[in-house]
Amino acid sequence: MISLVWNVRGAASDAFRRTFKDMMKQHKPDLAILLETKCSGDTAKKVIQHLGFTNFIIKEAQGFVGESHRQYIHVKVQYQRDKEWFLMAVTSDCRKLIAMPTKMEIRRAIFSIGSLKVPGSDGLPSLIYKNNWEIMKGKLLVWEWTKQNGKWDIDKFNQNLPPEIVMEIICKPPPQAENDDDRRGWRPSHDGNFSINSTYKELRKWPSEEKTVWKQLWSWRGPQRAKIFLWTAMHKKLMTNQRRARIFGGVGDCTRCNGGQEDIFHVLRNCPKASTIWVNLVKTDEIPNFFQLEWDNWIETNL
Ligand SMILES: [Zn+2]
Repeated sequence: MISLVWNVRGAASDAFRRTFKDMMKQHKPDLAILLETKCSGDTAKKVIQHLGFTNFIIKEAQGFVGESHRQYIHVKVQYQRDKEWFLMAVTSDCRKLIAMPTKMEIRRAIFSIGSLKVPGSDGLPSLIYKNNWEIMKGKLLVWEWTKQNGKWDIDKFNQNLPPEIVMEIICKPPPQAENDDDRRGWRPSHDGNFSINSTYKELRKWPSEEKTVWKQLWSWRGPQRAKIFLWTAMHKKLMTNQRRARIFGGVGDCTRCNGGQEDIFHVLRNCPKASTIWVNLVKTDEIPNFFQLEWDNWIETNL
């Protein structure tokens, strides 16, 4: 496939038309991109129609040189039997296009999706981000939206965001570790280098084997009724709607959020009503882990 890109001065002139037609004869481009700020509206349309192309898109010039305008045409091209690909023609100041999405842009994206859609790999519905934006904004990870090959995960965007926002985001390059090659790192140490000292400190954090969850529970210094509640919960004997429905029949759904079965984990953590409270209590950097743990680990970790 042949494309012709030309930053033209004076596209409305006869000289341009003659030269362009010569180039057409010589190269037979399938696609031409003309960048011309001085030619607009009907004049631009007439010029293009004279060049003999059947389809065209015009993006009118905006503002002046040096101002930050996003001017681009972004199209999906499918050429004969080739795989489809994206073509982007950018004019004007492209500093904004190559920048990472700002917090405001991410906020706009999050707030524009349905409340039960899950924007990240943490499994949290966007509702939680919306209700607790001030707390949650710090934990947004852009690379969750990239694939293993480092490119944007366009399918994931399309499932979660409106098309115009998807277009805006995929115009920007996905985040990359600044030029540095990947290397192995030892997590317990600050600089990523292995050391006996950091390993020893890490191992000391491991719970000794005798200390069971039950012992932990009974040695916890809190109100007796809270202990009994936790004990009942840990034995999964709380009378949730799911349990009630199993014993007495009826529907086991959660009546607070209508978001499916109300089991013990739903009541205590996964229900949007409950998670909204947790988000305010749990330290921000521990939130992803907090919401990802399985039941047993979750109890053990948080007891
Ligand atoms: Zn619920």
